[in-house]
Amino acid sequence: MIKIKINGIVQGVGFRPFIFRLATEMNLKGYVLNSSAGVEIEAIGENLETFVKRIQNEAPPASQIDEISHQFTEDKIYENFTIKKSKSNEGITLISPDLAVCEDCVTEFKNQKDPRYNYAFINCTNCGPRYSIIETTPYDRPKTTMKTFEMCNYCKSEYENPLDRRFHAQPIACPKCGPQLKLIDNDFNEVSGNPISQTIELLKNGKIIGIKGISGFHICCDATNFEVITELRKRKNRPHKPFAVMCKAENLAKIVEFEEKHLKLLKSPIAPIVVLPKKANKLSQNVAPQNPNLGVFLPYAPQHYQILSDKLPFIIMTSGNLNNEPIAADEKELGKLCDYYLTHNRPIINRSDDSIIIPTKKHQILARRSRGFVPSPQKIPLKTLPTLACGAELKLTFSISENETIYTSPYLGNAATKRTQQFYRETVENFQKWFRIQPELAVCDLQPDFASTQFAEKLNLPLVRVQHHHAHIAAVMSEHNLNEKVIGIAYDGTGYGTDKKIWGGEIFVNNYANFERKFHLNYMPLVGGDAAIRKPVRIAFAYLKKIGENTDFLKDISEMEKNVISKQLETHFNVFETSSIGRLFDCVATMLDLFPTISFEAQSAMALEFLCERESLENAKVYPFKVENKIIDIRPILKAISTDIKNGEKFKNIAKAFHKTIIYFTLDAVQQIYAETGINKVCLAGGVMQNSILLDGISELLSKNNFTVFAPQNLPSNDSSISVGQILIGNAQKGVL
Ligand code: ZN
Ligand code: ZN
Ligand code: FE
Repeated sequence: MIKIKINGIVQGVGFRPFIFRLATEMNLKGYVLNSSAGVEIEAIGENLETFVKRIQNEAPPASQIDEISHQFTEDKIYENFTIKKSKSNEGITLISPDLAVCEDCVTEFKNQKDPRYNYAFINCTNCGPRYSIIETTPYDRPKTTMKTFEMCNYCKSEYENPLDRRFHAQPIACPKCGPQLKLIDNDFNEVSGNPISQTIELLKNGKIIGIKGISGFHICCDATNFEVITELRKRKNRPHKPFAVMCKAENLAKIVEFEEKHLKLLKSPIAPIVVLPKKANKLSQNVAPQNPNLGVFLPYAPQHYQILSDKLPFIIMTSGNLNNEPIAADEKELGKLCDYYLTHNRPIINRSDDSIIIPTKKHQILARRSRGFVPSPQKIPLKTLPTLACGAELKLTFSISENETIYTSPYLGNAATKRTQQFYRETVENFQKWFRIQPELAVCDLQPDFASTQFAEKLNLPLVRVQHHHAHIAAVMSEHNLNEKVIGIAYDGTGYGTDKKIWGGEIFVNNYANFERKFHLNYMPLVGGDAAIRKPVRIAFAYLKKIGENTDFLKDISEMEKNVISKQLETHFNVFETSSIGRLFDCVATMLDLFPTISFEAQSAMALEFLCERESLENAKVYPFKVENKIIDIRPILKAISTDIKNGEKFKNIAKAFHKTIIYFTLDAVQQIYAETGINKVCLAGGVMQNSILLDGISELLSKNNFTVFAPQNLPSNDSSISVGQILIGNAQKGVL
């Protein structure tokens, strides 16, 4: 007899019926059951080793086997193979993320003879809502928002049949018994007629429609209509930030360049937005202005398949939220933002945004880890106390952990907004309840003004405050299972330093418990703090002034602004010192005439990256820099760029040289640290590592010089991973690890 234990995401994803079918096919006898630890199997019969192999090879698409172990024991007597009732004990049942509608369901959805033909809530054990509909655990229909829909006999017969694809599919539904779509105007009055054909008509006529999906609302409009996109940008107060476009797989090649692996990613149950090189296309210019890339995704909820057609092949599907707020779960939250709402009566309890992946030549940047990932646990090789790590401010997440498991919240928005704070508190409560973790330790950022820090301070728990960039690096270490001293590089926007200055261009030697700041960019004056960050030309003015360079060529800065900043530089009034590499990007970008004012984070860094036009840096020059006495001196770089501008050098060449210079001063600093410490493992972290030229360039050059490089891969490099790093550092400093 064989005993098999499997853990990972193996519940609510059709695992037991799969085992049942496989065992029956292989003539095995025994049982399968869900337990707190995952799935347990006992089986007698022939070819038991093959059975294990086939489980691994043929597991349902939405499942994820983290661990499978087996042992052979003395035979027991079994008459047949059965699915036993779940063992409910103290442990945690994992909650599956929401899953894109599967191919089998799409086939039925398109089949006129199927009882679920054109039914927007078709799902099965391989697909559909999970996380978004759960009120409490264990995951069972009465504990989801499907509880108010009583199953009809047809659905029930499938639900109870172990050989059916919908065996124990908790959200099972059909047009007779399940949720229904409806179209309403923005006074929330129902519009009569077929909701889908009306929606298509309205979209064709240039209307903006809020569409309720699996995990939240999208705001949708025709991606080929310039006027409606302009109107949407106005309403969302989003002048430049690119929008994502949804289309069917067969239309992808008309708008972006992609490889087979990208298509696989797009078609996965996560169905993320993937950012790919844009082709010359029929889409409106203002979908992703001044951007060589385009975020695309495929339909993943049944109603998306209905809306996309030859008449309407490309639609903008942007998160249904107000700036920096959480994604809406109810049309009331969006009010007049949309002209109409295509909504439905299956409530969304737990919202999550679309996840975003940016493939580079060598890496894959997970820019947002949300729908399709959340709330899957992550394993760390270390034991932690029950811990709540409260995150940072922008791109806010929290993480909660116990022993070797971390659960990270979806991306929640910007902590400065009231709605985000409320959503944050609710989600913290839910995670504690579902995963049965009662925190004994709290961790937060060093920055005292963050709402997340203030939340942590009120928890009445022992509190560890963690330096922002240490947390960035620890997150990368943990995803690569490192628990030793490494060279940690954090190239970032803003993080509070132990000297109360604004850090962001940092090279550490660190483990989880401690860090030593080996190098940082020399401090430059950030005049007026956050206001300057929104108007980077002020940063450029102050930086150039500070190093005694000419500032006359800067545009979009008034004489009055210049006078005020000059005064402030003299008096040090409201001047912060910063070593941020994000601010250096802001400075250089405005010197090259890009965006004197920005409307979204990292806009100038992206613009500088785009200026290089994906060209190789091989022939680019390297500007002079100095790396000594713990300082990477960027002043010679700025002076050289000023000279290049004066001499009429092409801006593209300057942008390339600037990137190459960063790559080379990084190598210089890392080599000096190696000479001193012998450490050759390097972790790359921080929001600026989302720049693919830097990420690929630094990792390539360091690898060539025999360093082992670890880059963010399954966690974002931006601030949404801060909470993960905080868990590890907080516990290390408490001496738990
Ligand atoms: Zn399905
Ligand atoms: Zn039904
Ligand atoms: Fe950061």
